[in-house]
Amino acid sequence: MNNKLYGNLIFELSHPGRRGYSLPTNRFGSYSTNQLAPELRRGEDAALPECDELTVVRHYTNHSQNNFGVNNGFYPLGSCTMKYNPIINEEIAAMPEFTALHPLQPIETCQGALEVYYRLQQSLAALTGLSEFTLNPCAGAHGELTGLMVIRTYHQSRSDERRTKVIIPDSAHGTNPASAAVCGLEVIEVKSLADGTVNVDDLRELLARYQGEVAGMMMTNPNTLGLFERNIPLIAKLVHEAGGLMYYDGANLNPMLGVCRPGDMGFDVMHINLHKTFSTPHGGGGPGSGPVGVRAGLEPFLPTPRVVLNESDGCLHVETDNPQSLGSVGCFFGNFGVVLRAYAYLLSLGKENVKLVGPLATLNANYIKESLRDVYELPIDGVCKHEFVFDGLRDKSTGITTMDVAKRLLDYGYHAPTIYFPLLFHEAMMIEPTENESKETIDGFIAVMRTIAQEASQQPQLLKDAPCGTPIRRVDDVLAAKQPILTWQASLK
Ligand SMILES: *Cc1c(COP(=O)(O)O)cnc(C)c1O
Repeated sequence: MNNKLYGNLIFELSHPGRRGYSLPTNRFGSYSTNQLAPELRRGEDAALPECDELTVVRHYTNHSQNNFGVNNGFYPLGSCTMKYNPIINEEIAAMPEFTALHPLQPIETCQGALEVYYRLQQSLAALTGLSEFTLNPCAGAHGELTGLMVIRTYHQSRSDERRTKVIIPDSAHGTNPASAAVCGLEVIEVKSLADGTVNVDDLRELLARYQGEVAGMMMTNPNTLGLFERNIPLIAKLVHEAGGLMYYDGANLNPMLGVCRPGDMGFDVMHINLHKTFSTPHGGGGPGSGPVGVRAGLEPFLPTPRVVLNESDGCLHVETDNPQSLGSVGCFFGNFGVVLRAYAYLLSLGKENVKLVGPLATLNANYIKESLRDVYELPIDGVCKHEFVFDGLRDKSTGITTMDVAKRLLDYGYHAPTIYFPLLFHEAMMIEPTENESKETIDGFIAVMRTIAQEASQQPQLLKDAPCGTPIRRVDDVLAAKQPILTWQASLK
Protein backbone atom coordinates (compact mmCIF):
# COMPACT_ATOMS: atom_id res chain seq x y z
CA MET A 1 0.00 0.00 0.00
CA ASN A 2 1.21 3.45 -0.84
CA ASN A 3 0.71 5.38 2.39
CA LYS A 4 1.43 8.70 0.71
CA LEU A 5 -1.40 8.28 -1.76
CA TYR A 6 -3.95 6.78 0.58
CA GLY A 7 -2.86 8.31 3.86
CA ASN A 8 -2.43 6.79 7.30
CA LEU A 9 -5.21 8.99 8.57
CA ILE A 10 -8.25 10.20 6.71
CA PHE A 11 -7.46 13.68 8.07
CA GLU A 12 -4.23 13.73 6.07
CA LEU A 13 -6.25 13.41 2.87
CA SER A 14 -8.60 16.27 3.66
CA HIS A 15 -8.93 19.28 1.32
CA PRO A 16 -11.26 22.12 2.30
CA GLY A 17 -14.46 22.04 0.28
CA ARG A 18 -14.11 18.48 -1.11
CA ARG A 19 -17.33 16.51 -0.95
CA GLY A 20 -18.37 12.91 -1.39
CA TYR A 21 -22.10 13.57 -1.40
CA SER A 22 -24.71 16.10 -2.40
CA LEU A 23 -27.84 16.53 -0.33
CA PRO A 24 -31.23 17.33 -1.88
CA THR A 25 -32.47 20.88 -1.44
CA ASN A 26 -33.86 21.42 2.02
CA ARG A 27 -37.63 21.90 1.78
CA PHE A 28 -38.26 22.37 5.47
CA GLY A 29 -36.70 25.69 6.36
CA SER A 30 -33.59 25.99 8.45
CA TYR A 31 -32.93 25.81 12.11
CA SER A 32 -30.65 28.50 13.40
CA THR A 33 -27.95 27.44 15.81
CA ASN A 34 -28.72 30.69 17.60
CA GLN A 35 -31.82 28.98 18.91
CA LEU A 36 -29.57 26.65 20.91
CA ALA A 37 -28.39 27.71 24.36
CA PRO A 38 -24.87 29.20 24.05
CA GLU A 39 -23.29 26.54 26.28
CA LEU A 40 -24.51 23.86 23.84
CA ARG A 41 -22.89 25.56 20.83
CA ARG A 42 -19.31 24.96 19.68
CA GLY A 43 -16.96 27.89 19.47
CA GLU A 44 -15.79 26.83 16.03
CA ASP A 45 -16.60 24.23 13.39
CA ALA A 46 -15.54 20.64 14.13
CA ALA A 47 -12.32 19.72 12.35
CA LEU A 48 -13.81 17.00 10.16
CA PRO A 49 -12.01 15.55 7.16
CA GLU A 50 -13.28 16.68 3.76
CA CYS A 51 -12.78 14.06 1.05
CA ASP A 52 -14.36 12.70 -2.10
CA GLU A 53 -16.00 9.27 -1.97
CA LEU A 54 -13.36 7.39 -3.97
CA THR A 55 -10.60 8.61 -1.68
CA VAL A 56 -12.58 7.47 1.36
CA VAL A 57 -13.27 4.04 -0.16
CA ARG A 58 -9.60 3.51 -1.09
CA HIS A 59 -8.41 4.71 2.29
CA TYR A 60 -10.54 2.26 4.26
CA THR A 61 -10.22 -0.61 1.80
CA ASN A 62 -6.44 -0.36 1.96
CA HIS A 63 -6.49 -0.19 5.73
CA SER A 64 -8.72 -3.26 5.89
CA GLN A 65 -6.13 -5.13 3.81
CA ASN A 66 -3.43 -4.34 6.33
CA ASN A 67 -5.37 -6.33 8.86
CA PHE A 68 -4.97 -10.01 9.59
CA GLY A 69 -7.80 -12.28 10.66
CA VAL A 70 -8.88 -15.90 10.54
CA ASN A 71 -10.27 -15.20 7.07
CA ASN A 72 -6.76 -14.28 5.88
CA GLY A 73 -4.79 -17.15 7.29
CA PHE A 74 -3.80 -19.41 10.16
CA TYR A 75 -4.15 -17.71 13.53
CA PRO A 76 -2.89 -20.04 16.30
CA LEU A 77 -3.40 -17.62 19.20
CA GLY A 78 -3.34 -19.66 22.40
CA SER A 79 -5.99 -18.98 25.05
CA CYS A 80 -7.96 -16.77 22.67
CA THR A 81 -9.48 -19.46 20.41
CA MET A 82 -9.47 -17.63 17.10
CA LYS A 83 -11.85 -20.00 15.40
CA TYR A 84 -13.48 -19.60 12.04
CA ASN A 85 -16.81 -17.77 12.03
CA PRO A 86 -19.04 -19.49 9.46
CA ILE A 87 -20.74 -17.20 6.92
CA ILE A 88 -24.19 -18.39 7.94
CA ASN A 89 -23.67 -16.70 11.33
CA GLU A 90 -23.22 -13.37 9.57
CA GLU A 91 -26.24 -13.89 7.33
CA ILE A 92 -28.46 -14.58 10.31
CA ALA A 93 -27.07 -11.75 12.44
CA ALA A 94 -27.70 -9.35 9.52
CA MET A 95 -31.37 -10.27 9.07
CA PRO A 96 -33.46 -7.10 9.24
CA GLU A 97 -35.97 -8.96 11.42
CA PHE A 98 -33.23 -8.86 14.07
CA THR A 99 -31.28 -5.73 13.26
CA ALA A 100 -34.36 -3.49 13.17
CA LEU A 101 -35.52 -4.48 16.66
CA HIS A 102 -35.55 -1.88 19.38
CA PRO A 103 -34.84 -3.01 22.95
CA LEU A 104 -37.78 -1.00 24.28
CA GLN A 105 -40.45 -2.33 21.96
CA PRO A 106 -43.32 -4.31 23.54
CA ILE A 107 -42.33 -7.89 24.35
CA GLU A 108 -45.22 -9.38 22.42
CA THR A 109 -43.63 -7.94 19.23
CA CYS A 110 -40.20 -9.50 19.80
CA GLN A 111 -40.99 -13.00 21.01
CA GLY A 112 -38.73 -14.41 18.26
CA ALA A 113 -35.68 -12.57 19.54
CA LEU A 114 -36.49 -13.47 23.13
CA GLU A 115 -36.81 -17.08 22.04
CA VAL A 116 -33.31 -17.06 20.54
CA TYR A 117 -32.04 -15.59 23.80
CA TYR A 118 -33.95 -18.12 25.91
CA ARG A 119 -32.95 -21.12 23.78
CA LEU A 120 -29.28 -20.20 23.90
CA GLN A 121 -29.57 -19.89 27.69
CA GLN A 122 -31.06 -23.39 27.77
CA SER A 123 -28.42 -24.81 25.40
CA LEU A 124 -25.57 -23.39 27.47
CA ALA A 125 -27.13 -24.80 30.63
CA ALA A 126 -27.35 -28.24 28.97
CA LEU A 127 -23.74 -28.05 27.70
CA THR A 128 -22.31 -27.04 31.08
CA GLY A 129 -24.54 -28.92 33.52
CA LEU A 130 -25.65 -25.73 35.23
CA SER A 131 -29.16 -24.53 35.96
CA GLU A 132 -29.53 -21.13 34.36
CA PHE A 133 -27.60 -18.58 32.32
CA THR A 134 -27.70 -14.85 31.78
CA LEU A 135 -26.39 -13.57 28.45
CA ASN A 136 -26.22 -9.96 29.63
CA PRO A 137 -22.44 -9.56 30.23
CA CYS A 138 -20.56 -8.15 27.22
CA ALA A 139 -17.13 -9.81 27.57
CA GLY A 140 -15.32 -12.60 29.35
CA ALA A 141 -13.99 -10.24 32.02
CA HIS A 142 -17.46 -8.72 32.35
CA GLY A 143 -18.78 -12.25 32.91
CA GLU A 144 -16.15 -12.84 35.59
CA LEU A 145 -17.21 -9.67 37.36
CA THR A 146 -20.88 -10.65 37.10
CA GLY A 147 -20.18 -14.18 38.35
CA LEU A 148 -18.19 -12.87 41.31
CA MET A 149 -21.04 -10.47 42.07
CA VAL A 150 -23.37 -13.50 42.15
CA ILE A 151 -21.02 -15.12 44.68
CA ARG A 152 -20.81 -11.97 46.78
CA THR A 153 -24.59 -11.47 46.67
CA TYR A 154 -25.07 -15.09 47.73
CA HIS A 155 -22.86 -14.65 50.81
CA GLN A 156 -24.54 -11.34 51.64
CA SER A 157 -27.97 -12.97 51.40
CA ARG A 158 -26.81 -15.27 54.19
CA SER A 159 -25.39 -12.36 56.18
CA ASP A 160 -21.96 -13.94 55.74
CA GLU A 161 -20.25 -10.58 55.19
CA ARG A 162 -16.72 -11.68 56.18
CA ARG A 163 -16.18 -13.64 52.97
CA THR A 164 -14.14 -11.15 50.97
CA LYS A 165 -11.25 -13.27 49.70
CA VAL A 166 -10.96 -15.13 46.41
CA ILE A 167 -8.39 -17.83 45.78
CA ILE A 168 -6.85 -17.73 42.29
CA PRO A 169 -4.03 -19.92 40.86
CA ASP A 170 -0.80 -18.17 39.86
CA SER A 171 -1.26 -19.47 36.30
CA ALA A 172 -4.63 -17.71 35.86
CA HIS A 173 -5.55 -15.33 33.06
CA GLY A 174 -4.87 -11.75 34.18
CA THR A 175 -8.55 -10.86 34.04
CA ASN A 176 -9.28 -13.18 37.02
CA PRO A 177 -7.47 -11.14 39.69
CA ALA A 178 -8.53 -7.91 37.96
CA SER A 179 -12.23 -8.86 38.06
CA ALA A 180 -11.96 -9.90 41.70
CA ALA A 181 -10.39 -6.55 42.57
CA VAL A 182 -13.09 -4.63 40.67
CA CYS A 183 -15.68 -6.64 42.61
CA GLY A 184 -14.10 -5.42 45.85
CA LEU A 185 -12.67 -8.81 46.73
CA GLU A 186 -9.15 -9.57 47.87
CA VAL A 187 -7.03 -11.95 45.78
CA ILE A 188 -5.16 -14.82 47.45
CA GLU A 189 -2.79 -16.62 45.13
CA VAL A 190 -2.50 -20.40 45.20
CA LYS A 191 0.69 -21.89 43.75
CA SER A 192 1.02 -24.27 40.83
CA LEU A 193 2.96 -27.53 40.94
CA ALA A 194 5.84 -28.10 38.54
CA ASP A 195 3.37 -29.64 36.08
CA GLY A 196 1.29 -26.46 36.04
CA THR A 197 -1.72 -27.78 37.96
CA VAL A 198 -3.01 -26.40 41.27
CA ASN A 199 -1.00 -27.28 44.37
CA VAL A 200 -3.66 -28.83 46.62
CA ASP A 201 -1.46 -28.74 49.73
CA ASP A 202 -0.98 -25.02 49.31
CA LEU A 203 -4.76 -24.63 48.85
CA ARG A 204 -5.45 -26.60 52.06
CA GLU A 205 -3.12 -24.32 53.96
CA LEU A 206 -4.76 -21.14 52.56
CA LEU A 207 -8.26 -22.38 53.41
CA ALA A 208 -7.15 -23.06 56.98
CA ARG A 209 -5.40 -19.69 57.29
CA TYR A 210 -8.40 -17.71 55.99
CA GLN A 211 -11.12 -19.73 57.66
CA GLY A 212 -14.54 -18.08 57.27
CA GLU A 213 -13.15 -15.39 54.94
CA VAL A 214 -13.03 -17.21 51.59
CA ALA A 215 -15.84 -16.22 49.21
CA GLY A 216 -14.73 -18.70 46.57
CA MET A 217 -12.05 -19.99 44.23
CA MET A 218 -11.60 -19.25 40.53
CA MET A 219 -10.25 -21.97 38.27
CA THR A 220 -9.51 -22.34 34.59
CA ASN A 221 -9.76 -25.81 33.14
CA PRO A 222 -8.00 -26.85 30.99
CA ASN A 223 -5.60 -24.39 32.62
CA THR A 224 -3.44 -21.90 30.76
CA LEU A 225 -0.96 -24.65 29.90
CA GLY A 226 -3.69 -26.59 28.13
CA LEU A 227 -3.67 -29.21 30.90
CA PHE A 228 -6.73 -30.76 32.46
CA GLU A 229 -6.79 -30.13 36.22
CA ARG A 230 -7.03 -33.64 37.67
CA ASN A 231 -7.88 -32.69 41.25
CA ILE A 232 -11.06 -30.71 40.67
CA PRO A 233 -13.39 -32.98 42.67
CA LEU A 234 -11.04 -32.78 45.66
CA ILE A 235 -10.50 -29.02 45.24
CA ALA A 236 -14.26 -28.40 44.99
CA LYS A 237 -14.84 -30.51 48.11
CA LEU A 238 -12.24 -28.56 50.11
CA VAL A 239 -13.55 -25.16 48.99
CA HIS A 240 -17.18 -26.12 49.63
CA GLU A 241 -16.34 -27.48 53.08
CA ALA A 242 -14.70 -24.13 53.82
CA GLY A 243 -17.97 -22.37 52.84
CA GLY A 244 -16.73 -20.97 49.52
CA LEU A 245 -18.17 -21.32 46.02
CA MET A 246 -16.33 -22.64 42.96
CA TYR A 247 -15.99 -20.33 39.96
CA TYR A 248 -15.10 -21.76 36.54
CA ASP A 249 -13.39 -19.55 33.96
CA GLY A 250 -14.89 -21.11 30.84
CA ALA A 251 -13.48 -18.62 28.35
CA ASN A 252 -11.77 -21.57 26.68
CA LEU A 253 -14.51 -24.19 26.77
CA ASN A 254 -13.53 -25.54 23.36
CA PRO A 255 -12.01 -28.90 24.37
CA MET A 256 -14.88 -29.58 26.79
CA LEU A 257 -17.87 -28.94 24.50
CA GLY A 258 -20.17 -31.92 24.68
CA VAL A 259 -17.42 -33.96 26.38
CA CYS A 260 -17.62 -32.98 30.03
CA ARG A 261 -19.46 -30.39 32.09
CA PRO A 262 -18.24 -27.97 34.77
CA GLY A 263 -21.55 -28.39 36.62
CA ASP A 264 -20.79 -32.09 37.08
CA MET A 265 -17.35 -31.32 38.49
CA GLY A 266 -18.63 -29.23 41.39
CA PHE A 267 -18.53 -25.72 39.97
CA ASP A 268 -21.26 -23.32 41.13
CA VAL A 269 -20.77 -20.33 38.84
CA MET A 270 -19.03 -19.93 35.50
CA HIS A 271 -18.69 -17.72 32.46
CA ILE A 272 -18.25 -18.63 28.82
CA ASN A 273 -16.80 -16.50 26.04
CA LEU A 274 -19.22 -16.74 23.13
CA HIS A 275 -16.59 -14.84 21.14
CA LYS A 276 -14.12 -17.70 21.48
CA THR A 277 -15.69 -21.14 21.75
CA PHE A 278 -18.89 -20.23 19.93
CA SER A 279 -17.19 -18.85 16.84
CA THR A 280 -18.11 -15.16 16.96
CA PRO A 281 -15.20 -13.10 15.62
CA HIS A 282 -13.25 -11.10 18.17
CA GLY A 283 -10.17 -9.03 18.69
CA GLY A 284 -9.67 -5.30 18.68
CA GLY A 285 -11.98 -4.87 21.63
CA GLY A 286 -15.31 -6.39 20.77
CA PRO A 287 -18.20 -6.85 20.52
CA GLY A 288 -18.17 -9.87 22.80
CA SER A 289 -20.41 -11.80 25.11
CA GLY A 290 -19.61 -13.47 28.43
CA PRO A 291 -22.68 -15.44 29.56
CA VAL A 292 -22.74 -16.44 33.22
CA GLY A 293 -24.25 -19.70 34.44
CA VAL A 294 -25.13 -20.78 37.95
CA ARG A 295 -26.10 -24.03 39.63
CA ALA A 296 -29.60 -24.61 41.00
CA GLY A 297 -30.32 -22.38 43.98
CA LEU A 298 -28.27 -19.41 42.76
CA GLU A 299 -30.64 -18.32 39.92
CA PRO A 300 -32.36 -15.52 41.89
CA PHE A 301 -29.02 -13.70 42.25
CA LEU A 302 -28.44 -13.42 38.49
CA PRO A 303 -28.58 -9.91 37.00
CA THR A 304 -31.74 -8.35 35.60
CA PRO A 305 -33.31 -8.10 33.11
CA ARG A 306 -33.92 -11.86 32.84
CA VAL A 307 -35.78 -13.65 30.06
CA VAL A 308 -38.17 -16.10 31.67
CA LEU A 309 -40.76 -18.47 30.26
CA ASN A 310 -44.23 -18.01 31.65
CA GLU A 311 -45.61 -21.56 31.77
CA SER A 312 -49.23 -20.39 31.97
CA ASP A 313 -49.37 -18.36 28.74
CA GLY A 314 -46.39 -19.99 27.00
CA CYS A 315 -44.87 -16.54 26.36
CA LEU A 316 -41.42 -15.23 27.16
CA HIS A 317 -41.35 -12.39 29.63
CA VAL A 318 -38.74 -9.98 30.84
CA GLU A 319 -38.21 -9.94 34.58
CA THR A 320 -36.79 -6.66 35.84
CA ASP A 321 -37.79 -6.44 39.49
CA ASN A 322 -36.35 -9.33 41.42
CA PRO A 323 -35.27 -8.06 44.86
CA GLN A 324 -32.67 -10.85 45.31
CA SER A 325 -30.93 -10.06 42.01
CA LEU A 326 -27.53 -8.40 42.07
CA GLY A 327 -29.01 -5.73 39.76
CA SER A 328 -28.12 -4.72 36.23
CA VAL A 329 -24.65 -5.20 34.67
CA GLY A 330 -25.18 -3.33 31.41
CA CYS A 331 -27.74 -2.14 28.91
CA PHE A 332 -30.69 -4.40 28.21
CA PHE A 333 -29.62 -7.93 27.18
CA GLY A 334 -25.98 -7.54 26.20
CA ASN A 335 -24.68 -7.99 22.66
CA PHE A 336 -27.58 -9.61 20.89
CA GLY A 337 -25.70 -9.94 17.57
CA VAL A 338 -23.17 -12.18 19.31
CA VAL A 339 -25.96 -14.24 20.87
CA LEU A 340 -27.44 -14.80 17.40
CA ARG A 341 -24.11 -15.96 15.96
CA ALA A 342 -23.52 -18.34 18.84
CA TYR A 343 -26.98 -19.84 18.51
CA ALA A 344 -26.62 -20.20 14.73
CA TYR A 345 -23.25 -21.89 15.29
CA LEU A 346 -24.69 -24.38 17.77
CA LEU A 347 -27.69 -25.20 15.59
CA SER A 348 -25.56 -25.69 12.50
CA LEU A 349 -23.30 -28.13 14.38
CA GLY A 350 -26.12 -29.94 16.13
CA LYS A 351 -25.96 -32.18 19.17
CA GLU A 352 -23.79 -34.86 17.54
CA ASN A 353 -21.21 -32.68 15.80
CA VAL A 354 -20.68 -30.44 18.80
CA LYS A 355 -19.01 -33.42 20.44
CA LEU A 356 -16.37 -33.51 17.69
CA VAL A 357 -15.12 -29.97 18.31
CA GLY A 358 -13.10 -30.74 21.46
CA PRO A 359 -11.46 -33.97 20.28
CA LEU A 360 -10.48 -32.44 16.90
CA ALA A 361 -9.06 -29.29 18.53
CA THR A 362 -7.16 -31.56 20.94
CA LEU A 363 -5.85 -33.77 18.13
CA ASN A 364 -4.63 -30.75 16.14
CA ALA A 365 -2.84 -29.27 19.14
CA ASN A 366 -1.11 -32.54 20.01
CA TYR A 367 -0.11 -33.11 16.38
CA ILE A 368 1.65 -29.74 16.23
CA LYS A 369 3.26 -30.25 19.63
CA GLU A 370 4.68 -33.67 18.74
CA SER A 371 5.81 -32.50 15.29
CA LEU A 372 7.86 -29.62 16.65
CA ARG A 373 9.15 -30.74 20.05
CA ASP A 374 12.54 -31.77 18.64
CA VAL A 375 13.25 -28.12 17.74
CA TYR A 376 11.12 -26.17 20.24
CA GLU A 377 11.40 -26.72 23.98
CA LEU A 378 8.41 -28.46 25.52
CA PRO A 379 8.62 -27.69 29.25
CA ILE A 380 5.73 -29.92 30.29
CA ASP A 381 5.40 -33.29 28.68
CA GLY A 382 2.20 -35.24 28.20
CA VAL A 383 -1.03 -35.04 26.27
CA CYS A 384 -2.43 -31.52 26.15
CA LYS A 385 -5.98 -30.42 25.41
CA HIS A 386 -6.73 -27.76 22.79
CA GLU A 387 -3.50 -25.80 23.31
CA PHE A 388 0.03 -26.13 24.63
CA VAL A 389 3.05 -24.03 25.53
CA PHE A 390 6.61 -24.16 24.16
CA ASP A 391 9.40 -22.40 26.03
CA GLY A 392 11.18 -20.96 22.98
CA LEU A 393 13.65 -22.75 20.72
CA ARG A 394 15.48 -25.77 22.11
CA ASP A 395 18.80 -24.45 20.94
CA LYS A 396 19.28 -21.52 23.33
CA SER A 397 22.78 -20.74 21.95
CA THR A 398 21.42 -18.81 18.94
CA GLY A 399 20.16 -15.89 21.07
CA ILE A 400 16.90 -16.02 19.15
CA THR A 401 13.91 -15.24 21.34
CA THR A 402 10.24 -16.12 21.14
CA MET A 403 9.62 -12.52 20.03
CA ASP A 404 11.95 -13.05 17.02
CA VAL A 405 10.19 -16.28 16.04
CA ALA A 406 6.78 -14.62 16.37
CA LYS A 407 7.86 -11.67 14.18
CA ARG A 408 9.34 -13.96 11.54
CA LEU A 409 6.07 -15.93 11.35
CA LEU A 410 4.38 -12.74 10.10
CA ASP A 411 6.72 -12.72 7.09
CA TYR A 412 5.50 -16.21 6.23
CA GLY A 413 1.87 -15.11 6.37
CA TYR A 414 0.92 -16.61 9.73
CA HIS A 415 -0.39 -14.82 12.76
CA ALA A 416 1.89 -15.26 15.76
CA PRO A 417 0.85 -17.48 18.66
CA THR A 418 0.27 -15.92 22.08
CA ILE A 419 3.72 -15.10 23.43
CA TYR A 420 5.19 -14.48 26.89
CA PHE A 421 2.02 -15.85 28.50
CA PRO A 422 1.52 -17.73 30.76
CA LEU A 423 4.19 -16.18 32.94
CA LEU A 424 5.44 -19.55 34.17
CA PHE A 425 8.25 -19.70 31.53
CA HIS A 426 10.65 -17.10 30.14
CA GLU A 427 10.04 -17.72 26.44
CA ALA A 428 6.43 -18.90 26.47
CA MET A 429 4.78 -19.50 23.10
CA MET A 430 1.20 -20.65 23.43
CA ILE A 431 -0.21 -22.41 20.37
CA GLU A 432 -3.88 -23.19 19.72
CA PRO A 433 -4.83 -24.38 16.23
CA THR A 434 -8.61 -24.97 16.79
CA GLU A 435 -10.59 -27.78 15.18
CA ASN A 436 -11.22 -26.00 11.87
CA GLU A 437 -7.82 -26.23 10.22
CA SER A 438 -7.05 -28.77 7.52
CA LYS A 439 -4.07 -31.09 7.76
CA GLU A 440 -2.45 -29.19 4.85
CA THR A 441 -2.68 -25.87 6.72
CA ILE A 442 -1.28 -27.39 9.88
CA ASP A 443 1.53 -29.14 8.01
CA GLY A 444 2.35 -25.82 6.33
CA PHE A 445 2.64 -24.16 9.73
CA ILE A 446 4.83 -26.96 11.08
CA ALA A 447 7.13 -26.67 8.06
CA VAL A 448 7.49 -22.91 8.54
CA MET A 449 8.19 -23.29 12.26
CA ARG A 450 10.97 -25.74 11.36
CA THR A 451 12.35 -23.37 8.71
CA ILE A 452 12.45 -20.59 11.29
CA ALA A 453 14.30 -22.86 13.73
CA GLN A 454 16.86 -23.49 10.98
CA GLU A 455 17.17 -19.78 10.19
CA ALA A 456 17.78 -19.18 13.90
CA SER A 457 21.09 -21.04 13.70
CA GLN A 458 22.06 -20.20 10.12
CA GLN A 459 20.85 -16.61 9.55
CA PRO A 460 19.93 -15.21 12.99
CA GLN A 461 20.07 -11.60 11.76
CA LEU A 462 17.13 -12.35 9.47
CA LEU A 463 15.03 -13.15 12.52
CA LYS A 464 16.30 -10.18 14.50
CA ASP A 465 15.22 -7.88 11.63
CA ALA A 466 11.83 -9.53 11.10
CA PRO A 467 9.19 -8.76 10.06
CA CYS A 468 10.44 -7.50 6.69
CA GLY A 469 7.29 -7.81 4.56
CA THR A 470 4.63 -6.19 6.74
CA PRO A 471 3.34 -2.60 6.34
CA ILE A 472 4.96 -1.72 9.67
CA ARG A 473 8.26 -3.27 10.69
CA ARG A 474 9.14 -4.21 14.25
CA VAL A 475 7.84 -1.61 16.65
CA ASP A 476 9.70 -0.47 19.73
CA ASP A 477 7.37 -2.00 22.29
CA VAL A 478 9.14 -0.40 25.26
CA LEU A 479 8.69 3.06 23.74
CA ALA A 480 5.10 2.23 22.82
CA ALA A 481 4.40 1.26 26.43
CA LYS A 482 6.30 4.15 28.03
CA GLN A 483 5.37 7.00 25.69
CA PRO A 484 2.23 5.97 23.89
CA ILE A 485 0.77 8.46 21.40
CA LEU A 486 -2.91 7.69 21.65
CA THR A 487 -4.54 10.67 19.98
CA TRP A 488 -3.97 12.43 16.70
CA GLN A 489 -3.17 16.07 16.92
CA ALA A 490 -4.23 18.40 14.17
CA SER A 491 -0.95 20.28 14.48
CA LEU A 492 0.93 17.21 13.21
CA LYS A 493 -0.61 17.74 9.80
C1 LIG B 1 -10.04 -14.40 26.94
C2 LIG B 1 -10.04 -14.87 28.32
C3 LIG B 1 -10.68 -14.12 29.34
C4 LIG B 1 -11.25 -12.74 29.13
O1 LIG B 1 -12.17 -12.59 28.10
P1 LIG B 1 -12.43 -11.13 27.47
O2 LIG B 1 -13.64 -11.30 26.61
O3 LIG B 1 -11.21 -10.78 26.71
O4 LIG B 1 -12.69 -10.18 28.60
C5 LIG B 1 -10.71 -14.67 30.60
N1 LIG B 1 -10.13 -15.85 30.89
C6 LIG B 1 -9.50 -16.59 29.93
C7 LIG B 1 -8.88 -17.90 30.31
C8 LIG B 1 -9.42 -16.12 28.64
O5 LIG B 1 -8.77 -16.83 27.69
